[in-house]
Amino acid sequence: MGSKALPDKCPLCGGTKKAGKTTFTVDLGFGVVVVRDVPATVCSQCGMDWIEDRIASKLEKIVNDARQKHLTVEITTLSEVGVMSELV
Ligand SMILES: [Zn+2]
Repeated sequence: MGSKALPDKCPLCGGTKKAGKTTFTVDLGFGVVVVRDVPATVCSQCGMDWIEDRIASKLEKIVNDARQKHLTVEITTLSEVGVMSELV
């Protein structure tokens, strides 16, 4: 396989980007949302991460949900909301 379409250099530091996982955190003001195990492309040098659009829209739903429920702290993982199965 190998990467052909995606530029595999980090635009910030020139480090190597690779598939990994990141933790997504949002401060809502009244509370925080933390989503763990988010699939992302991560720079091995500076740790900068890039999240795919469809993953980002899932995160947005989680954030909106937490905002509506007015949760002070919401800690979840993407696998709990069924994203992993959709990706396969
Ligand atoms: Zn980098």
